[in-house]
Amino acid sequence: EEDLQLLQGEEDDALPARERKNLPVVAVVGRPNVGKSTLVNRILGRREAVVEDTPGVTRDRVFYEAEWTGHDFWLVDTGGWEDRVQGIAYRVAEQAEIAIDLADVVMFVVDATVGITTTDEQLLKVLRKAKRPVLLVANKVDDARTEMEAAALWNLGLGQPHVVSATHGRGSGDLLDAVVAALPAEGRGAAPDSGPRRVALVGRPNVGKSSLLNKLAGENRVVVDDLAGTTRDPVDEKIELGGEVWTFVDTAGIRRRILQTQGADFYASLRTRSALDRAEVAVVLLEASEPISTQDLKIIDMVLESGRALVLAFNKWDLIDEERRHQLEREIEKDLGHVAWAPRVNLSARTGRHTDKLVPALKIALESWDTRIPTSRLNAFLGTLVAAHPHPLRGGKQSRILFATQARTRPPRIVIFASGFLEHGYRRFIERRLREDFGFEGSPIEIGVRIRE
Ligand code: GDP
Ligand code: GDP
Repeated sequence: EEDLQLLQGEEDDALPARERKNLPVVAVVGRPNVGKSTLVNRILGRREAVVEDTPGVTRDRVFYEAEWTGHDFWLVDTGGWEDRVQGIAYRVAEQAEIAIDLADVVMFVVDATVGITTTDEQLLKVLRKAKRPVLLVANKVDDARTEMEAAALWNLGLGQPHVVSATHGRGSGDLLDAVVAALPAEGRGAAPDSGPRRVALVGRPNVGKSSLLNKLAGENRVVVDDLAGTTRDPVDEKIELGGEVWTFVDTAGIRRRILQTQGADFYASLRTRSALDRAEVAVVLLEASEPISTQDLKIIDMVLESGRALVLAFNKWDLIDEERRHQLEREIEKDLGHVAWAPRVNLSARTGRHTDKLVPALKIALESWDTRIPTSRLNAFLGTLVAAHPHPLRGGKQSRILFATQARTRPPRIVIFASGFLEHGYRRFIERRLREDFGFEGSPIEIGVRIRE
């Protein structure tokens, strides 16, 4: 509880408007005192020394928006985490793991005046396993003598050490050039952010995918060549709906009838998977006039696995009567409880009923998918929640939640730092409450837990 209080009432560290751009993330890792925060301040171009020499001074931010030679990225100061989780032993290897989880590029900072310590080596082990570019930063190279010593760091196998002095500023420009060169065009989010948003229309054979596609396309099909900067992709189709252009992926696959031969299911499911890969949001089409089938549920599972936003559309609404409607409600309650957060549209591809409701549902789902909750709000929310509903005692021990941060969007991924294991039921409870408070309609939420004893 003490920890939670510490963590409450902190600043906003997110910039939602930028987040839509899905900027790449650069994490600064290293053991305490190597100068991570000083370096972060240097990169952000702060003149004043924000870093305090007094240990335990709370730094108030973790995520910063940074820019170098026209390249925007998020800069993550893991030094800031050390302060937030003070009071418990902070394990640097975990810090590195989390940073890797978040980052597209990692800056590994060492103190050139000290050389490589066992803690540095611990970190190094974790970083070597990461499939991310790692830049070795030799800090505190204030003079020529230290520079000579820093040359020995070549031995670490991380390539050329980037020699800097965070306090004096030397070498930071060259370092940033190297960071920018290592940056991917976008963050590791699902998809490029420019151009129309991408929709996968999925569902088992005969639910009406191609009928719906034809209905939606109607007069609204956009001639691809008219759109500047798009390459012609024969399997996708651009359709203007509600005043916006949308890309429906793998429409060729929908229009091509699957042969009713052995293996058809397998190919249908492969195709669904690849359509999901390329989409941001999935419309799962179900047949309102038929019972929800295991095949429908499998397709919904595939969407959940893919991490895409989800809209459920019940088609052939023109065929059903009052009785079937009630029955369907009961089926939904029984079989689709785990996706109760997905917007539902009841439509008919044949008559066109409510097909105009699809776009608002897609927009809601995508907005949720893009959402970032500021760390301060997240921790305030968890503080209240945990105070009222602590994790159940197990064997005389109580797991406590220490701190949480939203590591990613698309879909939202929340990482909770806890003092012990969090039971599945308790995680579900947290997710339910998160949804009550923050919405997330139409988007899955990933919750990761990091344990630190
Ligand atoms: P962190 O714990 O890794 O975030 O380290 P800090 O940024 O808090 O720095 C730890 C200490 O090292 C502070 O006293 C800084 O002033 C000092 N420091 C940071 N960078 C340099 C540098 O380039 N040269 C020297 N001489 N000291 C530095
Ligand atoms: P797909 O295999 O998912 O692409 O399904 P199709 O679009 O080929 O549709 C399968 C059958 O369902 C066809 O005979 C369609 O005419 C019919 N169908 C599709 N949508 C509707 C609808 O909204 N109402 C009714 N009554 N029939 C529909």
